Amino acid sequence: MKALVYGGPGIIGWQDVPAPVILRPGDAIVRVDTTTICGTDLHILKGDVPAVQPGRILGHEGVGTVTELGSAVSNVKVGDRVIISCIKSCGHCTNCRTGLYSHCLGEEGRPGIGWIFGHLIDGTQAEFVRVPYADNSLHALPANVSDEQAVMLSDILPTGFEIGVQAGHVAPGDVVAVIGAGPVGLAAISTASLYGAATIVAIDLDEGRLNQAMDFGATNVVVSGAPGWKDDVIALTDGAGVDVAIEAVGTPQTFTMAVDLVRPGGHVANVGVHGQAVSLDLAQLWIQNITISMGLVNASTTPMLLRLVAQGKIPAGKFATHHFDFDHFLDAYDTFSRAAETKALKVIISRTPGADSTN
Ligand code: NAD
Ligand code: ZN
Repeated sequence: MKALVYGGPGIIGWQDVPAPVILRPGDAIVRVDTTTICGTDLHILKGDVPAVQPGRILGHEGVGTVTELGSAVSNVKVGDRVIISCIKSCGHCTNCRTGLYSHCLGEEGRPGIGWIFGHLIDGTQAEFVRVPYADNSLHALPANVSDEQAVMLSDILPTGFEIGVQAGHVAPGDVVAVIGAGPVGLAAISTASLYGAATIVAIDLDEGRLNQAMDFGATNVVVSGAPGWKDDVIALTDGAGVDVAIEAVGTPQTFTMAVDLVRPGGHVANVGVHGQAVSLDLAQLWIQNITISMGLVNASTTPMLLRLVAQGKIPAGKFATHHFDFDHFLDAYDTFSRAAETKALKVIISRTPGADSTN
C-alpha cells in the first residue's frame, strides 16, 4: 500500500510500505477513505515531537471501512464505515473507566497515552491502518453523515468541545471568548451554544479566520492585539470580564490574554499545545477565584457529537475547505502549511478512486 511517511525534520513522502496486519485480538484493519492533516502534523514535520521517529506513517484523523477484525472485536463488523478516533482507549483500565481515555493504560504504545496514531504507532495518512482496541476506538457511522463531516469528529470537534467548552464550564447566558479561530477554536465556537452561551467572541490575528468564525456561531469578532482589543471584548460583558476564556493557540501571549479577559470566578480553558513554559502571576491572580484547566482530548464525546452532526446541529462540513486525492497528498500538505494564504481550515484527502481495496 501507499502511505505518508515521515523521514525526519522537513521530509515526508507518499510511498510504498507494507500493509498493516492484525497483531492483537482487539485490532481492526481499516481501509482509509478520507483523512486530513492537523497542526500537530506540521509540528512533527518541524521536528518538534521527537517521539515521532523517521519511518513513522503520520496522521491521527480518519474515516474508513473495516476490512479485517481481530477475534476479540465485537462492536464493529467488516464493511462498516467508521470514524477512527485520534485517541485509542482500551475501555477497561483504571483511567478509561473514569473516562480519561487520553491516559489509557492499555498495553499498545507508551503506557498512559491515548494519542498514539502517527506518533507512537503508524497513523491514518495511509491506504490502510491498524487500529488497536477497535471496540472503543472506532465509531460506526450512519449513512446520512458524509466522510468529510465525520472526519471532524476524530479530533477537532471533541477537542474544542471537551477541553474548551466542557472544561471551561460554559453555562446558559455566558459570555465566552475564544482566542484563536483555527479549526480547534472554531470547533469550540460551534459547540459553545450547546451549553447556552449567549455571546461568543472570536479573537484572532487573521481577519479571514474571523470572517469564517461568524459562520460557525461567533456572535462578535475582535482582531487580536489591535488598539483597544481588550476594551472591545470587555464591552461585551457587564464590565467584569468574560465568564469563560478558551485559549486555542498555544503561546504564552495568548494564554495571558485569556487570563486577562476572565471575570473573577470565571474559567480559563487552555486547549493550545504549548512548546514553552508560561508564567502565571499568582501574586495578582490568587484573589480572582478563577479556575484554569488544560488537557489532552479524551474523545469520549465523539458518539454524542456524532448524533448532533447527524441532526445538522453542528456545521461539521464547513470545516472542509480544500479537497485532494491520495496521489496529491504532498499538495495537501503544501496548501495546509500555507493556511493564512490559502484560507485552508481542514484539507480533505480522499482515497483515490479505483485504488486497490483488497490489500
Ligand atoms: P491553527 O494553527 O490552525 O490555529 C491557530 C489560530 O490562532 C490561527 O487562526 C492564528 O491566526 C491564531 N493566532 C495566532 N496567534 C494569535 C494571537 N496572538 N492572538 C489571536 N490569535 C492568534 O491551530 P488549530 O489546529 O486550530 O489548533 C489550535 C491549538 O490546539 C494548537 O495549539 C493545537 O496544537 C492544539 N490542540 C490541542 C489538542 C488537545 O488535546 N489539547 C488537540 C488538538 C489540537
Ligand atoms: Zn485504557
